Amino acid sequence: MTGYSIFSLARNALRGHRDWPRAWRDPAPKPRYDVVIIGGGGHGLATAYYLAKNHGIGNVAVLEKGWLGGGNTGRNTTIVRSNYLHKPNAQFYEHSLKLWEGLSRDLNYNVMFSQRGVVNLAHSDAQMDAHGRRGNAMRLNGIDAVLLDREAVRAIVPDLDFSARARFPIYGALLQPRGGTARHDAVAWGYARGADARGVDIIQNCEVTGIKREGGTVVGVETSRGTIMAGKVGLAVAGHSGHVAAMAGLRLPIETHLLQAAVTEPLKPVLDTVVTSGAAHVYVSQSDKGELVFGGDLDFYNSYAQRGNLPAISHFTTALLALFPRFSRLRMLRSWGGVMDMTMDGSPIIGKTPLANFYIDGGWCYGGFKPDHLSVLRSARPCRVQLWRRRDADAAGPDDFVRRRMGRLYLSPRQPKGGASRILAAPRRLPRLVNGPARHLDS
Ligand SMILES: Cc1cc2nc3c(=O)[nH]c(=O)nc-3n(C[C@H](O)[C@H](O)[C@H](O)COP(=O)(O)OP(=O)(O)OC[C@H]3O[C@@H](n4cnc5c(N)ncnc54)[C@H](O)[C@@H]3O)c2cc1C
Repeated sequence: MTGYSIFSLARNALRGHRDWPRAWRDPAPKPRYDVVIIGGGGHGLATAYYLAKNHGIGNVAVLEKGWLGGGNTGRNTTIVRSNYLHKPNAQFYEHSLKLWEGLSRDLNYNVMFSQRGVVNLAHSDAQMDAHGRRGNAMRLNGIDAVLLDREAVRAIVPDLDFSARARFPIYGALLQPRGGTARHDAVAWGYARGADARGVDIIQNCEVTGIKREGGTVVGVETSRGTIMAGKVGLAVAGHSGHVAAMAGLRLPIETHLLQAAVTEPLKPVLDTVVTSGAAHVYVSQSDKGELVFGGDLDFYNSYAQRGNLPAISHFTTALLALFPRFSRLRMLRSWGGVMDMTMDGSPIIGKTPLANFYIDGGWCYGGFKPDHLSVLRSARPCRVQLWRRRDADAAGPDDFVRRRMGRLYLSPRQPKGGASRILAAPRRLPRLVNGPARHLDS
């Protein structure tokens, strides 16, 4: 792998940038790998990278049905933060934030991580109290947090509506100075390049169409480019988790929803931090190209279509303009959607499934960019311990926790009966969804 440095940049500039080698190869799939990872987003690529780097397992393939980062990784609004109230969440995402702080150096690839701060606005006394509580909890967990009063917010974000008739009056805010943004596709490319250099085959335009089982053990995958056998198979397909897992006969407690975002035309620097408002349900930052990147809540219906509908865009645009009336003169350049993997309790599922040699990393919904590198096979153990403590304190151990949550999975009657049906008592049917998916309460 050619190292990127000021010297290689200067050398190649002098040659008209004609001699850069490919950042990663374009290999044909081999008949067998030790590990096959389905999904070439941030989680799949990071899993491959750390398997090779930290565990010396390089006989790995990442199978991507489209192009790298073409899923949610390349569609997200790039906010990275660890401003959580509850200790397990706080420690989980703080661990991730620390990895972000060294990621460009680790990958030798500029992921453009910009710690410009994340400002959570408060629009009432009650919200100020809640932010104070959250800020104190963060500090107790060793995370940076600053409670801002109204004047301090005005100094940082002067374009907010501070007038007496503001729809969302500004009382103050909670600031996490170390939060910020990163360039999303650079993260995918950086991981791909690092994994490829360690022997991982990254295979694009290769859709997994079936999962091969022998009894309760997964042994390979069927793809649009032929059958590939595998010692272990990892699933990291975000909003496609449900239907790909169904190929193995698993029904996941995950629903797929649309999340949309939009950008304005580019403008000169006006916003040098990330601003979010839970009450207005909108967030905004300014990209390096000058566009204002903004978004809001999920479309609350299930869909696999990677495009949304007007009410959601209209809702978060209205909220943005209520907060920043000045932005009303900007034109919207484009909007898009990504298919999100929402679990019923809003927490991700990372770890083993009831099928042997089949692993899952999913359920991140709209918070999965910031912990890209906490993917399933890397440092999953400490993460699972945290989640286990939070959710299932009486379980025997972290693996037990994962299995218990997976208790909500069951084998589809279409699949041949195997070992997995003996591992878990299969419920007759999944619990009915009465109130729709869990909403992330940002805690
Ligand atoms: C609009 C929007 C804004 C967001 N904002 C943020 C944010 O600010 N901060 C944050 O932390 N998170 C955010 N997220 C969430 C974040 O983007 C995701 O949680 C994260 O990118 C998921 O990464 P992934 O690798 O699991 O999935 P993806 O990046 O979606 O990768 C999965 C890949 O699997 C591939 N695939 C699917 N099926 C198959 C198959 N059968 N065979 C082969 N390949 C397959 C897909 O093509 C895709 O490339 C946002 C998401 C969206 C849509």
